[in-house]
Amino acid sequence: MRQPTVYLLSCGDELLFGHTLDTNSAWLAQECTLLGWRIVGHRTIGDVTPDIVGAFLDAASRADVVIVTGGLGPTRDDRTRNGLAHAMGVSLFEDPEAVEEIAARFRQFKRPMGENNKLQALIPEGAKRIFNPAGTAPGIEADLLGARVFCVPGVPKEMRAMFDQTIRPHLTGAPGATSEYMRRLHLCGCGESEIGAMLQPLMRERSNPEISTTVAETIVTVRLYANGATLDEAKRVAGEAEKEVRAILGGDIYGVDGETLQEAVYRLLKERGAKVVTAESCTGGMVAAMLVDVPGVSDVFLDGVVAYANETKTRRLGVPAEIIEKYGAVSRETARAMAETQLRAGTFPAPVYALATTGVAGPDGGTPEKPVGTVWIACSRLDPDGHGLTRTTLFNTVSDRHGIRLRSANAALDLLRRTILDIPVRSEVEDFTW
Ligand code: AMP
Ligand code: MG
Repeated sequence: MRQPTVYLLSCGDELLFGHTLDTNSAWLAQECTLLGWRIVGHRTIGDVTPDIVGAFLDAASRADVVIVTGGLGPTRDDRTRNGLAHAMGVSLFEDPEAVEEIAARFRQFKRPMGENNKLQALIPEGAKRIFNPAGTAPGIEADLLGARVFCVPGVPKEMRAMFDQTIRPHLTGAPGATSEYMRRLHLCGCGESEIGAMLQPLMRERSNPEISTTVAETIVTVRLYANGATLDEAKRVAGEAEKEVRAILGGDIYGVDGETLQEAVYRLLKERGAKVVTAESCTGGMVAAMLVDVPGVSDVFLDGVVAYANETKTRRLGVPAEIIEKYGAVSRETARAMAETQLRAGTFPAPVYALATTGVAGPDGGTPEKPVGTVWIACSRLDPDGHGLTRTTLFNTVSDRHGIRLRSANAALDLLRRTILDIPVRSEVEDFTW
């Protein structure tokens, strides 16, 4: 059976010109989706009657239900009711019950009712008014081109109250309405386009589940959006697809749904009874701060140094001054020494990992050889037998200062995760055993 569809219209110049953010559509889209309806479009229109008429006709021809918010106020710039009447080819009439409801509200608040407020009682012939439990403006329910149209005020509190009282019962349990389930798989250390290419055979348009990707600060999320007659069925569909995705991406996936990269790292360290220390230059403590976001991290996190000045890298971490002199502060050798010297000094009990970052966060300080966004990352491991491994990698990104630091911190945590699990790093790495 075909899934029933909803189209959302937002009316108001303030939305069109960007002065007010359209939060109504986001809220309505989520509610309708949870009720098993498919959203087929959103559109924002200004307070211009011909635009409203056109949008009404278009939306009604595309969906079973059209939900319209805004433009029902008492002023001349609110034109939703006129637009709807035009689209329906009827005139407006004054609904006496609506007049009485509005008058009762004004009596309740002991305020005089203006002539303008009577405009709010106008509804197109053949339409019904919708009671507003939270304000003065009634809504309108009408049929247009075989679609059911619900118009409610733009004020979010009133919109939500009217949705709950009148629209939700109409949408609940509709034939063909499905249960929806979303599963998210998160990755770091590979580009979105790279992942997109690998998953291409699975990413079919309007399939069930729909598989799509998003990226935020180098964290790529693969979304599996499934529907089914019941929630269990939707979960089963998502589960099947997850197996296929995992067969392709395997160890690159660090976590699912709400799990963060630092939580995944914490879990891995804890399972192995291992600890971690950090030595940061360009990330300035971000790696440590991200780890400390995880409740219970004191089980695994021992020490974090922000060694920003060269002299501090030497004094606090033991990086030989000659290394900084010879290779520069932003270099594989310095990153390696920042991570390794602490572990070699025997300050921390094995098994323990050290993460180090050193790079050019910009906006100044870049050179042709080391442009802004060049970051060296090192991850060392000290084993209980006294041997160790240091893995170094060059991370490059284009962003502002904050973005470079945040992405580098993610890259460092990802390098740690991959080193713990002994899985390949997708960028070029060089390993040193000691
Ligand atoms: P209206 O019903 O057009 O008179 O809108 C009343 C008020 O509700 C506006 O001034 C906005 O502040 C707010 N509003 C209208 N539409 C939206 C929307 N789509 N999302 C969030 N707020 C809105
Ligand atoms: Mg308005």
